[in-house]
Amino acid sequence: DAGEKLAPENFEEFMARSFPPCMRRLVERQRENKKHLKHAGRLQLRPFLKDCGFTFEDSVRWWKQELCRDPEITSESFEKTYLYDFEHAYGKKGHLQGSNCFGCAKILAMPSETPGQVHGCMFRQLELPALRNQLQRWRVPAAFVGEIEKLVKEGKHYQLACMEYFKSLHVGHDGEGVGNSPMDFFRTSGRFHKK
Ligand code: SF4
Repeated sequence: DAGEKLAPENFEEFMARSFPPCMRRLVERQRENKKHLKHAGRLQLRPFLKDCGFTFEDSVRWWKQELCRDPEITSESFEKTYLYDFEHAYGKKGHLQGSNCFGCAKILAMPSETPGQVHGCMFRQLELPALRNQLQRWRVPAAFVGEIEKLVKEGKHYQLACMEYFKSLHVGHDGEGVGNSPMDFFRTSGRFHKK
């Protein structure tokens, strides 16, 4: 199953319906804050977009547009500072395989965010009020928000919390197969929507 492919023309739709919270939050924060994602955030998001289907050209164009929302980054500084990362991620430079999306274990193990940083698994990174606020902004129904808070607060069950979020977005799905990797989330969602 080749699955659905992320492309510039379906980006907004796919982000809202099929991106795991860890990735959707990075994209939205970068836009809202008009502050480019720092190293760890870029390292997390870049291979995810690639594995979802962005070609090298899609990635360069998308990242250029997004990073340049930050007044600190110009077209020239983008080419100079960031282009290499994409060549590397796509195996055009450095080791030839390129880089693959991190699994949840690795994202969960990322250090806490410091001011100005956005990265990691939001179920672990955010304090409960901020987590609740984020879920409400995404219009996650209250019953699911309550369940997610319980899973996080009582047991640090971050991956089960992610599964609940998935279930809230994919009505009738039991969340099976979600919670090991952001790619599992994306692909399971794609299969759900294809039916
Ligand atoms: Fe992302 Fe995994 Fe956390 Fe879900 S559990 S938000 S896929 S890191």
